[in-house]
Amino acid sequence: MNLEDVKVVKELLSTPQHIVIVPHKNPDGDAIGSTLALYHYLKGLGLEAVVISQNDYPKFLKWMPGSETIVNFEWDMTSARTLIEKATLIFTLDFNHLSRVDKMQPFLEEASATFIMIDHHQEPSDYAKVTYSDTNIGSTCEMVYNLIEAMGDLNKISNDIANCLYTGIMTDTGSFKFPSTTSKTHRVVADLIDKGAKNTEIHNRVYDTNTPDRLHLLGCALKNMVILEEYRTAYITLSQEELDTHNFKKGDTEGFVNYGLTLKGICFAVIFIENKEEKIIKISLRSEGNFSVNQYARKHFQGGGHVNAAGGKSNLSLRETTDYFESTLVKYKDDLILSCGQKGSL
Ligand code: 5GP
Ligand code: MN
Repeated sequence: MNLEDVKVVKELLSTPQHIVIVPHKNPDGDAIGSTLALYHYLKGLGLEAVVISQNDYPKFLKWMPGSETIVNFEWDMTSARTLIEKATLIFTLDFNHLSRVDKMQPFLEEASATFIMIDHHQEPSDYAKVTYSDTNIGSTCEMVYNLIEAMGDLNKISNDIANCLYTGIMTDTGSFKFPSTTSKTHRVVADLIDKGAKNTEIHNRVYDTNTPDRLHLLGCALKNMVILEEYRTAYITLSQEELDTHNFKKGDTEGFVNYGLTLKGICFAVIFIENKEEKIIKISLRSEGNFSVNQYARKHFQGGGHVNAAGGKSNLSLRETTDYFESTLVKYKDDLILSCGQKGSL
């Protein structure tokens, strides 16, 4: 984080503020971990702060300290709108375009507050007074750690902050295996463990909470997998009917998309999940090597994200979406073969 930005943040935090902290819609471990860690940090400085999430998040994140204080915009719109209107400072974490908060977007656009963005996605927009954006950092949680470090406050990292930050770093780095995991990441998590992060327990709480329904849904997803060896691609579909049959709960499909990449010779994996209520197909994309799913998702599926992990959506039917998807692959064939060549190379 550059010194000028640190100075501005310090100045802003040196006076009383009404602070709102916002993660992206459908928040994941990094979004909830970073917003709650920042919440605890600001509270520790004696400031008033609240996290507002556009919608609900998976049960496997609800153990996180401070989770019970999160205001859900969808469920409690009146309070959420009042808090946004009254806010003097709004932190937006783990996203960089206001469209990523969906129905909350117009209220954030109308807000008179000063904005601070902390994010690691590609192509940030410029709504914030302070934009701390770095696509080389594997998680927003690591960036919140950097912010606290730059503020000279590492000694203020409590158990709660350590547990929240550890969770987001763990989930966004695929448990420390993605290329974005650096020696600094390991130094940060080492310090977080020293400061009280319960690493084994966190891993259990996030990853070992399967229900029989979820495992059966995974079985269904894997059965549906289509492997297009020629294009080094594997994709999965889940229809609304299949989700209903397995009593789908938010978060149940988390991580399913990654199974495609465990196939030898596959470096592009996608999952298409039908959402009848929102009338969309929600899409998650993953790659290994140089093939940018961020660029691909932007071009074809109204989305974006990182080079190796991105999301998007389609307004076509499930079948039409996968037909369209398959039709796009021809022109990426050479890139995909090249990208696969990098898989596993040292
Ligand atoms: P996931 O597939 O796990 O939902 O998301 C992968 C990455 O892409 C995350 O960093 C997430 O924030 C981002 N992402 C997911 N959906 C969208 C989307 O619709 N638009 C954009 N710009 N990014 C997305
Ligand atoms: Mn993230």
